[in-house]
Amino acid sequence: MTLPLRPDLAGLTPYGAPQLDVVARLNVNENPYAPPAVVVDAIATAVRQAASGLNRYPDRDALELRGDLASYLAVESQADFLAAENIWAANGSNEVMLHLHQAFGGPGRKVLSFAPTYSMYPEYARDTLTDYETLPRRADFTLDVDAAVKAIEELEPVMVIVASPNNPTGTALPLSETERLCAAVAKVPGGSLLVIDEAYAEFRRHGVPSALSLLPDHPELVVSRTMSKAFAMAGGRLGYLAAALEVVDALQIVRLPYHLSAITQASARAALAHHRDLQAQVDEIRAERDETVAWLREQGYTVADTDANFALFGPFEDREKVFQGMLERGVLIRVTGPEGWLRVSIGTPQEMALFRSALVEVVA
Ligand code: PMP
Repeated sequence: MTLPLRPDLAGLTPYGAPQLDVVARLNVNENPYAPPAVVVDAIATAVRQAASGLNRYPDRDALELRGDLASYLAVESQADFLAAENIWAANGSNEVMLHLHQAFGGPGRKVLSFAPTYSMYPEYARDTLTDYETLPRRADFTLDVDAAVKAIEELEPVMVIVASPNNPTGTALPLSETERLCAAVAKVPGGSLLVIDEAYAEFRRHGVPSALSLLPDHPELVVSRTMSKAFAMAGGRLGYLAAALEVVDALQIVRLPYHLSAITQASARAALAHHRDLQAQVDEIRAERDETVAWLREQGYTVADTDANFALFGPFEDREKVFQGMLERGVLIRVTGPEGWLRVSIGTPQEMALFRSALVEVVA
């Protein structure tokens, strides 16, 4: 059969890391801890209640959920200036980002990001026929803001996307640099948005501020978050962003009606009500992250400074071989980032002990 597939999609394979049943799954930056029993119970109760109304479409605007997300950000990042109407939510931050591209991207429009970064960024652009351009990060994976400002002036992108902390490097963008990017984006004729993807924000080290604090003074700023990581809800599929009302209004145009199921809304709200119960896990992951980084450095590896729940380390002459050796020992990590580097998501203390002993064996 001849498929009328778009020529630019011919021969491409779907994005996705291996889903393997091994002892230590440390390859997609999931939270290694199952939601605590109190959260599981709250979700089960909320879903049961929602199930009795499943003959009706869900709240199309998900206003209660968006209100809960705003309340959470007020506590987590002191962003007490946000109303439900400043929040947009969708099935994972992947869908949030796709909505941004559907509303603001398109043929003849450019998005700018900074490599190495999250591998889905070029795909959102491709799927919406948007041009995707990157500038290289510095050798230590920080942003060359002078070069970025110059590129924004020259390219006039509709969106500039910075993951902070960045995937796969863990690098956070300092607030002063975010402000400089905001200023550059605000000057683009025809308008432009600075999207800070804070999927991993809750894991940031103490004292590293969220870009959310800049929102009141910067209508061109969009801050994206997810419940997939800190909330241990990757399977729940709930991502969201905070932005000016006009941005959220524009996103409503491209969303499918009832895109967030009643089950998704109910389970996300139940988890949000228990965000304090999940904080202990986040603290443990942070501590384990810092210990892992220190250990890797003691072993002589270079490790990118990380504010996320993963670490990029290297260099390896043959990273595929190390990846395979680790996998044979039940430890699934990720071949990603520049040649020679590997990424490990932070697991439980037991998983990280296995990671350490496997790595020592593999490189021996
Ligand atoms: N942004 C970044 C930087 C990510 O690493 C990820 C997940 N790996 C996402 C967004 C998407 O996450 P989700 O769709 O689960 O919210």
